Amino acid sequence: MQIGIDLGGTKVEAAVLSVDGHFLFRERLATPQGDYSATLATIATLIQRAESELQIMCNSVGVGHPGSADPGTGCIRNANSTCLNGQRLQADLQALLKRPIRLANDADCLALSEATDGAAHRCSSVFGVILGTGVGGGWVIHGQLLQGPNGLSGEWGHNPLPIATADERPGPRCYCGKYGCIEAWLSGPALVADYQRSTGDMSPTAVPMLVSAASQNNAAAVACLDRHTQRLARALAVVINTCDPEAIVLGGGVSQRPGLIPGLLAALPAHVFLPPETPLRTKILLPAFGDSSGVRGAARL
Ligand SMILES: [Zn+2]
Repeated sequence: MQIGIDLGGTKVEAAVLSVDGHFLFRERLATPQGDYSATLATIATLIQRAESELQIMCNSVGVGHPGSADPGTGCIRNANSTCLNGQRLQADLQALLKRPIRLANDADCLALSEATDGAAHRCSSVFGVILGTGVGGGWVIHGQLLQGPNGLSGEWGHNPLPIATADERPGPRCYCGKYGCIEAWLSGPALVADYQRSTGDMSPTAVPMLVSAASQNNAAAVACLDRHTQRLARALAVVINTCDPEAIVLGGGVSQRPGLIPGLLAALPAHVFLPPETPLRTKILLPAFGDSSGVRGAARL
């Protein structure tokens, strides 16, 4: 059995998976807001409940978390749950739970879950993408999470948008301090902001409102979603030209909008370095496990 924790901004979820990938235990608790010690205690409570209910003791625990851990210091950085930043999450959980803890971010967990037994389960190289309130990525190569010396693998959202047109430069300011990051164009809030900038209409405040307007043939909403598709194609073409993954899995709320995958498949060939008429063999997939990929990938760590 494998036990995983998905540590999110609003909820902490624990799950125990059987070897063949079935949920044996699943429970969520609210994330204590702004309180690191209480967050650790919530994780410990969930582990204890899982193990006492199933009468088991897992040798290690996988934890998916926002941000990333600095491989040098172990400190969490860039987490939108800011109480985690600067904390040695792995060491603190190991002290509390008295066993090895493996950490990865949410995009890593998506990639690992989908590469293990999800949409990309027979693929040797998988790039998992989260398009949500932020934009992240994670790599799984031959079943193993790719982790480098800077703890940065897959952090594609803070590269600049490729092949930017004159009216896309310098681009929207990103929370990281730069302008025109992929995240600043492609996240859910960025997509809504793009519509608001181009129309002056501030009424849509969430992606589902844009999707609904587009489904009723609102021309500005249709154009905005098409710009998003074209920009995502440019951003993914760089990934394909660099590492040529067998599959790209698109997770996160923004990936669920209708028509995204066909739109990408139509837009990608213009930017991928292949002779004309050569078919693009990259599989562009949606997650098999939806929102569960985070906790499933954590367990797979
Ligand atoms: Zn950025």
